[in-house]
Amino acid sequence: MRLTLVLAAATLLAGCTPKPKAELAPLLEEFIYTTLSFSPSAATGQGYHVHHGRKLDDELDDFSFPALQRQMKFYADFHKRLEQIDRTRLSSEDRADLDIIEGQIALALFDLGLIHSPQHNPTVYVEALGNALFNPYVLEYAPPAERFRSIIARLRQVPHYVDVAHGSLRAVPPAWMDVAVEENDGNIALIDGALRGAAPAELKTEYDEAAAPALDALRAFNRFLKSELPKRQIGHLPSWRLGAEHYRMKFRFALGTDRTPEDVLRQARADLETVRVRMRGIAMPLHAQWYPTHGETDAETVIREVLQRISDKRSTPASYLEDARHDLEEARQFVTAKNLLTLPSNANLKVIPTPEFVRGVYSVGGFNPAPPLEPRLGAFYWVTPIPPDWPAARVESKLREYNFYKLKLLTMHEAVPGHYVQGEFANAVQPSSRRVLRAVYGNTPYVEGWAEYATQMMLDEGLLDHSPELRLTFLKEELRVIANAIIDIRLQMDQMSEAEVAPFLESKTFQEHEEATQKLRRAQLTSAQLPAYLVGWRDWMRVRGEYRARKGAGYRLHDFNDAALREGAVPLPVLGRLLAGQ
Ligand SMILES: [Zn+2]
Repeated sequence: MRLTLVLAAATLLAGCTPKPKAELAPLLEEFIYTTLSFSPSAATGQGYHVHHGRKLDDELDDFSFPALQRQMKFYADFHKRLEQIDRTRLSSEDRADLDIIEGQIALALFDLGLIHSPQHNPTVYVEALGNALFNPYVLEYAPPAERFRSIIARLRQVPHYVDVAHGSLRAVPPAWMDVAVEENDGNIALIDGALRGAAPAELKTEYDEAAAPALDALRAFNRFLKSELPKRQIGHLPSWRLGAEHYRMKFRFALGTDRTPEDVLRQARADLETVRVRMRGIAMPLHAQWYPTHGETDAETVIREVLQRISDKRSTPASYLEDARHDLEEARQFVTAKNLLTLPSNANLKVIPTPEFVRGVYSVGGFNPAPPLEPRLGAFYWVTPIPPDWPAARVESKLREYNFYKLKLLTMHEAVPGHYVQGEFANAVQPSSRRVLRAVYGNTPYVEGWAEYATQMMLDEGLLDHSPELRLTFLKEELRVIANAIIDIRLQMDQMSEAEVAPFLESKTFQEHEEATQKLRRAQLTSAQLPAYLVGWRDWMRVRGEYRARKGAGYRLHDFNDAALREGAVPLPVLGRLLAGQ
């Protein structure tokens, strides 16, 4: 029965029998706010604090069996209600919103009905708890004391929350178990360290009283994960791999794409070779200039040596953050000078060091947009500083990787014209129900594809005077994006062994061993997420190509970028239709 539900949602596309005209906005709101209430930790992050009188900021996510059953029923019922809507009488924007909701229902039913993550993936509990404590700490939606009261309320529920996890978890792949233990240690450190230190004076006692049993429960959870849970694994151990059939479904639902994994894999393999040929073409003359005595060398060595020389130009630990700020200003000026798009008028972007307790996750940098429900709040471009206690060799290795050119690429991707600009356009979408829907359920290929496409556009337009060093560095990044798609598809569809991953990345994409090894781990933790960059990037180019063909001589790059950004993060096939007025 569960399978039928998922399939029904999956095959639900356009084309329904004529039904009465519906006002969509209330339906959108009901969907967004009800589904957000299923995850209070995420709701706080999105700026949704109270649901029908329930203070979500004081609650933890409920993974109990009855709660998950209620969620499934909601999605299934909602799907039936959507079937009653006559799509032919909706505007194209309304139809796009309906498509987004249908995609989300399919994805939710896939997980609730088929995959059952809360039974097999302990990181689900650990990460939801981390967000539940982290969001009210960093997001300044209320005075610190009020936010800390919520943190305390959430801490009080931790023992019960851990009980639910104990009761539900069974048969866990070892790779997920190890990560859960590590991340759980991170939560323990957050509660015992950063949060305890930041608790306002008048709440210190209350905080300590709530933290003690919470910490006990989390330490017990680690012992459970390490010693008790492995004994529960009777019979067949589930794999972290989805397998071909489930992966195809998730690929479609999670990426909102009309392309199959097989199709993306075929293109990715061809692109891998094309990009390597382009790299060779750019590296050859640089190599001849920089290493005139080396003579005949194979292409692989030429590219490696040139990349090494390029990384000589780099920041110092002290100048790293200032250099990123300078790059941001340079990118802004270039966008304006070339009239590439309308820059946000809001001055809410802050470039700051990544907060200490998330530096494990954001080891390089990251972007945190203003929440769609509270767009006036700050947006942050986080740049992770080099720890003062690192040995010189490690510092050097990081600064070489994030050299003069790569730091510019990072800043363009995360901030301008990448994630920050996209996020500000998305936060201006009207009406608010549409804005929130398209932000909360923002399409990852749209978001990540934009950041890659927008960076490419800057280079195509001649940033840094068409610097071959910058282009070569970007092509190396493109290789990585392509390789990420290849390994995710092949691993999840059972076409590649774990042992094959690192040699593939090292031989084909100029990655170091350490980086290649970490990538395998990421691929084991997520599925249909690593290909989002490639799928999105290629689809942005496809959508722009179609737009350009329609406009003919009237085509302006600026108009395309603005129009596409104004829609918010919709799935890219939907964006194509919207821009065509369909
Ligand atoms: Zn990104």
